Amino acid sequence: MPDFDVLVMGAGHNALVTAAYAAKAGLKVGVFERRHLVGGAVSTEELVPGYRFDYGGSAHILIRMTPVVRELELTRHGLHYLEVDPMFHASDGETPWFVHRDAARTVRELEALFPGQGEAYGRFLDDWTPFARSVADLFNSAPGPLEMGKMVMGSGGGRDWQRQLPRILRPYGDVAREYFSEERVRAPLVWMAAQSGPPPSDPLSAPFLLWHPLYHEGGVARPKGGSGGLTRALRRAVEADGGEVHLNAPVKRILVKGGKAQGIELENGDTYTARAVVSGAHVLTTAGALPPEHVPPAAREVRMGNGFGMVLRLALSERVRYRHHTEPDSRVGLGLLIKNERQLLKGYGEYLAGEPTTDPPLIAMSFSAVDDSLAPPGGEVLWLWAQYYPYELASGTWETRGAEARENILRAFEHYAPGTRDTIVGELVQTPKWLETNLGLHRGNVMHLEMSLDQMFAFRPWLSASQYRWPGVKGLYLTGASTHPGGGIMGASGRNAARVLLRDLTRRGWR
Ligand SMILES: Cc1cc2nc3c(=O)[nH]c(=O)nc-3n(C[C@H](O)[C@H](O)[C@H](O)COP(=O)(O)OP(=O)(O)OC[C@H]3O[C@@H](n4cnc5c(N)ncnc54)[C@H](O)[C@@H]3O)c2cc1C
Repeated sequence: MPDFDVLVMGAGHNALVTAAYAAKAGLKVGVFERRHLVGGAVSTEELVPGYRFDYGGSAHILIRMTPVVRELELTRHGLHYLEVDPMFHASDGETPWFVHRDAARTVRELEALFPGQGEAYGRFLDDWTPFARSVADLFNSAPGPLEMGKMVMGSGGGRDWQRQLPRILRPYGDVAREYFSEERVRAPLVWMAAQSGPPPSDPLSAPFLLWHPLYHEGGVARPKGGSGGLTRALRRAVEADGGEVHLNAPVKRILVKGGKAQGIELENGDTYTARAVVSGAHVLTTAGALPPEHVPPAAREVRMGNGFGMVLRLALSERVRYRHHTEPDSRVGLGLLIKNERQLLKGYGEYLAGEPTTDPPLIAMSFSAVDDSLAPPGGEVLWLWAQYYPYELASGTWETRGAEARENILRAFEHYAPGTRDTIVGELVQTPKWLETNLGLHRGNVMHLEMSLDQMFAFRPWLSASQYRWPGVKGLYLTGASTHPGGGIMGASGRNAARVLLRDLTRRGWR
């Protein structure tokens, strides 16, 4: 008798989702996580007394387009989502505007501030909402070979595909220009689209902009107590169905015999056997744990790129106060802080040359505005996500250049909210190197692998591994951002992988 039905390597949110579905189906599940807490890039800790910091993702958007929270009854296991509305606070420093969950209100306010642009925003939503919905549908199933076609036909019910297709194939920067003549509207939308990594000039990247209507559909949310509220609830769901979650338990080897995964060996030498092994770790980490003869060349050829983002997380003694401030709206949503499109392109140019951006555009997040458990009364947590930052630098190392990058992020923020630096009482600087060392994100890529079309859908992580199964090793399954549909707090990969696993392991299959 094996020790478990299913062994799960890593307790990132996707791995926990797979584990929770497997435990709910009656399988005996054991999760083994390298770190001292669950969640990987969706985890939270009190790093400064009284202040809770997220380690990775903070804006819960995509998971709201999946049935994961409902199906796994995560509310019953302690997950409490707080709505973030307005969802975005866009600003060049002089003229802030807001994206509300209510699209009509957003259109009205935009039209009043920038005549013509509210109408353009409404037209953009009308044109692309069907497409965005069909993208969300694709996220929730294992990838087949014809996704692009399905996406296109899904947009506008197939009526308008001859007009839509060329736009989908374009760089998102170009599509934004087609709709929005006012740069103060266009630049923040382009900056939000840039969050997946590829720059606005990348061919075939338009979907990163075209799924914007999804924000109005599902909204932006925060688990009460921090991002880790999601993964803590997932852990409770696993345990409630008899599963075990082991922390400080790094997996050293995936044991393979006769072409079949047999179990795992931990760093401390303990071994456990199972009918199936699921890895939710980065695909290169999974490859590193396998006997070399079971690692195909394609596994070593996946592309992480050269990092792209870094975060300065701050504990503040006072609330953020923007130069043009609306209380509390300015502090609630994700601050899309960008002076103009040139700022983003210049940053990308510096990055290509191996240099950290000197004047980065920012996503500012001060979620203590919606969750008073994150900071002491009157205080604030402020997280500043910035792009672009090479993992491999042209000169120096992250140890020697981290302070300079940190200072440039802070200086960039002071353009919007001067005086912030005087209120800092604690901080965490997450360089691309930090993200690799602490979160296991190879080369600092928060999406595991580059999110370019050659590594999306049925090509993620590579063609013969795209169905959540490791090719050539029976009983070894994959989940996580290295697989379809990629990075982000979504859980769709975890759910899709569970579907494949349960079909193989239980006669009942998916319920
Ligand atoms: C700084 C940052 C900001 C982000 N912001 C957002 C955001 O606002 N919104 C959004 O949607 N997304 C965001 N993301 C992206 C998103 O958080 C990640 O893409 C996603 O959480 C990845 O989840 P995962 O479960 O696929 O993998 P991971 O979270 O990478 O989990 C892998 C797990 O495996 C463990 N592991 C590795 N090796 C071993 C081993 N040998 N043995 C045992 N365990 C092991 C790791 O410790 C980790 O817990 C952000 C990410 C980062 C890092």
